[in-house]
Amino acid sequence: LLQKPQESKLVANMRAIKNKIMVMSGKGGVGKSTVAANLAAQLARKGFKVGLLDGDIHGPSIPKMFGIEDKRPEVDEKGIVPVSVTDNLKVMSIALLIEDKDSPVIWRGPAKMAAIKQFLEDVSWGKLDYLIVDLPPGTGDEPLSIAQLIEKIDGAVVVTTPQDMALVSVRKSITFAHMLKVPVIGIVENMSVIICPHCDERIDLFSKGGVEKAAKDFDVPVLGALPMDPKLAEIEDSGKVHTLDADSTEWSREFTKIVDSV
Ligand code: ADP
Repeated sequence: LLQKPQESKLVANMRAIKNKIMVMSGKGGVGKSTVAANLAAQLARKGFKVGLLDGDIHGPSIPKMFGIEDKRPEVDEKGIVPVSVTDNLKVMSIALLIEDKDSPVIWRGPAKMAAIKQFLEDVSWGKLDYLIVDLPPGTGDEPLSIAQLIEKIDGAVVVTTPQDMALVSVRKSITFAHMLKVPVIGIVENMSVIICPHCDERIDLFSKGGVEKAAKDFDVPVLGALPMDPKLAEIEDSGKVHTLDADSTEWSREFTKIVDSV
């Protein structure tokens, strides 16, 4: 008799998730976590069951954006239980497992990879409509091992600012997704303009056109251009991303279009 090989815990966990989307960026500080967190929050507000996985080990910012940085996940017989932010939204981050938030994570090479693997295996998400994965920035070992371990990711969203330096890395991110055979849903341009709070004039921060060119070269869509919005930064700093109304600011109105295209 042929015996079915035992399915790994990770594969079994991932099978209960309908859509897996990874959010990438070529470098840090462009708004990758912002896009991942708001995407998860808005999908949850629409009624979907959503999990948000913070894979950014060295600069985890997701727990703070939802005001859960002091929560510790519980462990039951199935594994680590992600922290519930609302009925529809669960969050898990390595930061929530680390005792001292002020000390940097100094795992090296193999220890770090083993920790990432164990972390991904042990989190028990249950049934989800969406798992949004906030990958570490860049295209190095860490984003690679997370993306490979999760397997069969349905789509990638690439976040960038319109700066030239950032755009070089956008091209790398798209190539990275192609290598993993993950379809690129599109590029999100963040912090493209500042809107003057006094006269509503729109001020371009960087030269325009680079994002469109990269999108055209790779035949992927630009999902939206998000303005610099002080209100958004305030909501993130105060840990209330899950309360952001889809039509409350210019940023969130533009963001709604992105959510609809995912
Ligand atoms: P990354 O994940 O790429 O490192 P983050 O999403 O953590 O970037 O964003 C870096 C900082 O910039 C955060 O403090 C965030 O609140 C802020 N930020 C990101 N996008 C915007 C925006 N469009 N308007 C205002 N602040 C923003």
